[in-house]
Amino acid sequence: MKKLIFTALLLLSIGTIVSGQRKIVNLPDIPGYVTLKCDFHMHTVFSDGDVWPTVRVDEALRDGLDAIAITDHLEYTPKNDFVPVDMNAAWTIVEGYAREKNLIPVHGTEITRKMPPGHFNALFINDASLIAKDSVWDSFEAAAKQGAFIQWNHPGWKAQQPDGIPRMYEIHQRLIKNGWLHGIEFFNDNEYYPVVFTFCKQYNLALMGNSDIHGVISETYPEPTYTNRPMTLVFAKEKSHDSLKEAMFAGRTIVYFRDMLVGKEEFTKPFFYQCISVEKPFYQNNKSIYFEVTNSSDIPFYLINGIPDSPPALTLAANSVTRIVLSKKAKSPLVYDVRNILTGEKEILKVELKY
Ligand code: ZN
Repeated sequence: MKKLIFTALLLLSIGTIVSGQRKIVNLPDIPGYVTLKCDFHMHTVFSDGDVWPTVRVDEALRDGLDAIAITDHLEYTPKNDFVPVDMNAAWTIVEGYAREKNLIPVHGTEITRKMPPGHFNALFINDASLIAKDSVWDSFEAAAKQGAFIQWNHPGWKAQQPDGIPRMYEIHQRLIKNGWLHGIEFFNDNEYYPVVFTFCKQYNLALMGNSDIHGVISETYPEPTYTNRPMTLVFAKEKSHDSLKEAMFAGRTIVYFRDMLVGKEEFTKPFFYQCISVEKPFYQNNKSIYFEVTNSSDIPFYLINGIPDSPPALTLAANSVTRIVLSKKAKSPLVYDVRNILTGEKEILKVELKY
C-alpha cells in the first residue's frame, strides 16, 4: 500500500514538473532582431468565441507563440444572456496569467462594421470600452488617442466582398491619410488576399497573418493537415511588449501559414539564409560533386527555376538534410526562385546556394 501511495505521489509530482510545456517552433531570428511568433486576432465567450480567455493563452503556449491579442467584438456580443458584457474582461483575465507563462499579452479589441469600412482590430490599447462609439470614425479616433496599432481585418472576406477581392474605399484612404491604419491582414484563418501585399507596399503598412479563431485551435487546425495556425512573425529588438509594439509600427513583419512565407525581401531573404546552411562538398568523382543542404526550420522550401546543368527544382524538407548531386559542369552559386516565399503580390524570392 505504502509503495502504491509513493508511486502515486511520484506520478503527481512528475505531472507538476512537466505541466505548461511550450512547443519548440523552429523559425529562426534574423541578424539584429528576434523573431516573435504572434497571433493578434482571436475571440472568447466575451463576444462570439466558444472558449474562456485563459484557454487562448494555453493554446498559444502549445503552439509555441510569443505574443497574442484577444480581440473580442465591441459591437457583437451574442452570448450576453449568459455572459456579462465587459469589453475589457478578457484582458483582465489573461494579462497576469499570460505574463506568468512568458507569453506577451497585447490588449486589443475589434471594431465591427459593414463594408466599408469592415472590421478592424485596435491593438496596444488601454481601455476597450472607450472605443465603443456610435460612429465608426469616432471609434477610430478613440483608438488612435490610445496610441493603438490599427489593423484592417480580412479585407476580402466573402461575407463582405463576395468576389473575395479587397478594395480600398474613401474611408480607408482617409484612415491612411490620418496615420490611423498600420497593418492589413494578408492571412485570416484559411483565406488570403494577395492584393494586400500591394496595399502594404504602397502605403508602408505591416503585413498581418492571424487565426481569427472562434472555436478551439486544435480542432480548427488539426495535425497533420496543418503544421501551424496563421502567424505574424515580428522582428523585434528584444522579446518584450514595448519592443514588439515598436517593431509593428515600424512594419517589421512577415506572415506565415501552410508553408507559405510572405514578406518584403529585406526580411524574407535574411530569414531564408538563417534557415539554411550549405555544407562543403563531401565527395566527388569525375562527373559529379556531392554536398548537403541543411534546413533547420519547420518550413519546407520549394526551389524552382534552376540554372543550366543544375537540378531544375529542389525540395529542402523541413528540419532535414538534403543531399545534392551536381554535375561538375554546374557553377557555384546555384540560383533558384523559392516558390513558397512571396516578396510581392506577384513576386517570389530569388536565392543563391554557394557550395
Ligand atoms: Zn474577429
